[in-house]
Amino acid sequence: MLAFWFKIPLWQRVVAALILGVITGLIWGPESETIKWIGDFFIKSIKMLVVPLIFFSLVAGVAALGDLKKLGSVGGRAMVLFVITGQIAAWLGLALGTFFQPGSGVDTGSIEMGATPEPSQTTAVDMILSIVPDSPVQVMADVRVLPLIVFALLIGIGILMAKEDGKPLAKIFDSGAVVMQKVTMIVMELTPFGVFALMAWVAGTLGTDALISLAQLVGLNYLGCLLIIGLMYSAMIKFIAKLPVIDFFRGIIDAIAVSYSTASSNATLPVTLRCVERNLGVSNSVASFVVSLGATINMNGTAMYLGLATLFGAQIFGVDLSWGDYLLISITSTLGAIGAAGIPGAGLIMMALVFGSVGVPLETIAFVAGVDRIMDMMRTTTNVSGDAAVAVTVASMTGEIDRAEMISADDV
Ligand code: ASP
Repeated sequence: MLAFWFKIPLWQRVVAALILGVITGLIWGPESETIKWIGDFFIKSIKMLVVPLIFFSLVAGVAALGDLKKLGSVGGRAMVLFVITGQIAAWLGLALGTFFQPGSGVDTGSIEMGATPEPSQTTAVDMILSIVPDSPVQVMADVRVLPLIVFALLIGIGILMAKEDGKPLAKIFDSGAVVMQKVTMIVMELTPFGVFALMAWVAGTLGTDALISLAQLVGLNYLGCLLIIGLMYSAMIKFIAKLPVIDFFRGIIDAIAVSYSTASSNATLPVTLRCVERNLGVSNSVASFVVSLGATINMNGTAMYLGLATLFGAQIFGVDLSWGDYLLISITSTLGAIGAAGIPGAGLIMMALVFGSVGVPLETIAFVAGVDRIMDMMRTTTNVSGDAAVAVTVASMTGEIDRAEMISADDV
């Protein structure tokens, strides 16, 4: 029995769990909340890996790049791709919102408002200050990913600068990164159970009423994300990385299933890393560097959604927007996506930043909060696929990909 279970590839077990979870939730209804703890257990176990994994992988990744020049070429390319794709995504959200007008003709009285999250008080200066850790240990204890990344990058750069003297430390981080990958493999075996429980909970508790009222926004959110994945990422893989698009998506199927069901880029990070290295043949140094950084700052689904939701709010409350406002929204949406943590609902909190910049009422947040989870799942999948796409593209630009391994990815 056990042997039979392990003989089925993990991704097939995960996809089956996803489908069975939805069916169970639809039949069982709100009662399915009783098994949500299994999903929480899974998310907790996978989150436990985030800090050690980022720390070991990122330091090992930077150290493995060998010299500072290479760090510049990989990091520079990744950053350029992160920012350009973020801007395109934000403008796509604005275009969809302008064209389809999802908020016009909405009767605000007919929709049950979700709870308003605390509006974010973050100013641009706070954001800049928050990326420098006060204490690395504190940052690890609080799982604050952005300052942790800064600290890990600095240690990696220090190792490169120390040359021969840095080698023993680099070896320790290397070994730590390998050990963390093994630990990840163990935790990954929980995926089918976690995905099943989370999908049953989402399908069972969301209720169809709110979905019908906000169906247009939800539909546009899905359309935008699918366009980003199907056009932008596919084009990047086909024309810049020059690799088969189908193999790319086949290789990241585990990450897609986990990101969709957990709605958290951070929680998916160990899985993304494993897919990019093992199934797509990206070198360990580029994968660790780009995917860890991308999980926190590369969020194209979120950037698109912030643009779309701002127009939605403006249409509901009759706020006129100029071209200057559009420009401002595209910039704040991209910044909001960079600043958003890779956790469920982070995009919703960042709305306060974008809405505030153009005078869209914050009530819009409560308006969409009830259906945010179902949109969050799709934008997280978009965010995570984007991290993998950038990793593969940068690896292929810098010759850090084993193409044979990617193409023969039969046993994913
Ligand atoms: N949940 C998303 C993520 O983890 C962020 C968001 O809320 O848009 O990537």
